[in-house]
Amino acid sequence: MSETVNLADKIKECLPAELVRLIEAIGAMAAHQDQHLYLVGGAVRDLLLERETFDLDLAVDGDAITLAQLLANITQGRLTVHTRFKTANLRWKEWRTDLTAIRSETYDQPGALPRVKPGSLAGDLFRRDFTINAMAVQLSPGHYGDLVDLYGGLEDLERGFIRVLHEKSFTDDATRIWRALRYEQRLGFQIEPETLGLLNRDIAMLDTISGDRIRHELELVLKESYPEKVFLRADELQVLPRLQPGLKCDSGLSERFEQARQISSPTPPPFSLYLALLTCNLTADQVEQLIVHLKLPRSLSQILRDSCRLNTEIASLATPSLKPSRIYEVLHGYSPSAITATSLAADSPEASRNIHQYLTRLRYIKPALTGEDLKSMGLVPGSRISEILKRLRVARMDGEVSNRQEEERLVREWLRKGA
Ligand code: ATP
Repeated sequence: MSETVNLADKIKECLPAELVRLIEAIGAMAAHQDQHLYLVGGAVRDLLLERETFDLDLAVDGDAITLAQLLANITQGRLTVHTRFKTANLRWKEWRTDLTAIRSETYDQPGALPRVKPGSLAGDLFRRDFTINAMAVQLSPGHYGDLVDLYGGLEDLERGFIRVLHEKSFTDDATRIWRALRYEQRLGFQIEPETLGLLNRDIAMLDTISGDRIRHELELVLKESYPEKVFLRADELQVLPRLQPGLKCDSGLSERFEQARQISSPTPPPFSLYLALLTCNLTADQVEQLIVHLKLPRSLSQILRDSCRLNTEIASLATPSLKPSRIYEVLHGYSPSAITATSLAADSPEASRNIHQYLTRLRYIKPALTGEDLKSMGLVPGSRISEILKRLRVARMDGEVSNRQEEERLVREWLRKGA
């Protein structure tokens, strides 16, 4: 019989003391009600890898909601209960804890959301995506810290393998294909050869997944520190074209992602900028197909449409000594994320310089005179006023005027000439 691995010391080393005390307290509370409590999933993986983790998934072979309520009372954290799924979520300081009743799942058809039933710990772990995510740690007094590793997760973690638990895994839920790539690239692991074979076999199952679920996976990829690694691998394995056949990822896109991080630092680039970079070589029709497929929200869809349209205008920005008002005319009205993506994607340093000028200076330029000022200069309220304000903005951008007096003089001149 293999020796039990105990992670009590690792828990103490890797988690903040406050959280450890809390875990011990819930374990004791559960035991008091004759229930067993386990830490499950990604947190166990991260503990073994000594990586920081802020999300703790706890599973109990009893009533998760009552336990979560007790926990909320102790911590004064924010509790959300999902009665239908018998789960509760507690947010406390910077940590998030999900408490679930140990369960098993069945799938009515491939790609559907699972049906949840009460079950055993072995069943609960078996429904998970990969062996490295299918381990548990006992938190009940007496066995506190004992690792439950029924499917070889520890060995795969040591060998650096992403391995599914059974051969129907990707058929049951093809979002696991994206998850496999994400963990592989994040951890510097390898998809285990047999799992890779299943992935190739089941790649078409990605088409059974709803747009909402695929979009969620894409959001998770874009939250990774280096999403381009996942996209490169997705391109290599023909997973990327399943999102949209025109999508490609190469070293050029990787560089642009890196530049996007540099200009957005210290915060990560917004989702919209990454996505605009990923899609900026698509045709307008392909962008529309992707928007429908992923059910993208309106503002994000607009950004993708903008960056696709701007790409076709980039040539007109690649001219040196372009008048600032002309740069403004081309770029005005487009979303900043689309403009930044176009600038990063542009091969022309001149176009990038012009775009930079627009983003940092031109778009903020306004005339000193207001509509009220123009009225007091004798102009009748109406479209003429907004037209003059626009012309003043152009004059200001192109350096024809630089202060209020010069603007007044110019307006008088226009009025005198009836221009
Ligand atoms: P991350 O570090 O990316 O947050 P995580 O492992 O905590 O990773 P979650 O998406 O929070 O991942 O999911 C928690 C756990 O639920 C996973 O570790 C895994 O065991 C299980 N899980 C999540 N999604 C799936 C899925 N599609 N199929 C099977 N199991 C899943």
